[in-house]
Amino acid sequence: MDNNKKGYKTLGIMGGTFDPIHYGHLVTAEAARDIFNLDSVVFVPSGRPPHKKDYRVTDAESRYLMTVLAVVGNPHFYVSRVEIDREGQSYSIDTIDAFQKKYPSTELYFITGADAILEILTWRKVDEIVRKCFFIAATRPGYDLKGLSAEFQRVAEVLCDRIHTIEVPALAISSTDIRRRVADGESIKYLVPESVEQHIYKNDLYTGAR
Ligand code: NAP
Repeated sequence: MDNNKKGYKTLGIMGGTFDPIHYGHLVTAEAARDIFNLDSVVFVPSGRPPHKKDYRVTDAESRYLMTVLAVVGNPHFYVSRVEIDREGQSYSIDTIDAFQKKYPSTELYFITGADAILEILTWRKVDEIVRKCFFIAATRPGYDLKGLSAEFQRVAEVLCDRIHTIEVPALAISSTDIRRRVADGESIKYLVPESVEQHIYKNDLYTGAR
């Protein structure tokens, strides 16, 4: 999972497909760490995302490697293989259970995109998940936060005090746009760390993506 033997008081679990990881994700994790006073943030690339049917997700090892390359310079960031090494679909409840087992007295914060969290009622064992951790929903600029919280209220009254939202201007960057740029031969410089950019070109990723 991670090699840190310290007892965390608070730990961020940064969940995403990371296809590829970009600066928007890194800024989100650092903002969450800062605002919520998290001891560390563990990035958890999805193994087999349960909701991804619209495009072919890049091989898990490649997404894991890009995530490791991206976080290497931050002493508070780690990457976990927990979803990649687990058989079957990647359900967040199984991931949260694994972290809770490893760190029983740590307060867990699951960080991900607001669009993903809006679907939370469709997630496996949602009642259990919201009891076991807090959620940090990161929004792109221009997202109507009032509308978002109204939507959360509509979704379920009980979830509201467990879900926090943060607006992250750097989330103007998106993985979808990066895949499209590579396919169209456009530059992705300064959208992803240089090592991630090199990995993408060296392994010919996204050239057929649209
Ligand atoms: P997604 O639908 O691909 O992403 C939705 C939006 O959120 C996109 O705009 C995406 O931008 C953004 N996003 C995704 N991860 C982010 C992050 N860590 N920080 C900031 N923005 C983020 O979402 P996904 O990657 O499939 O799923 C997100 C997380 O929710 C994963 O950990 C996944 O396992 C979990 N999930 C669990 C269940 C379940 O347990 N049943 C179901 C669905 C999702 P980018 O494309 O630029 O990243």
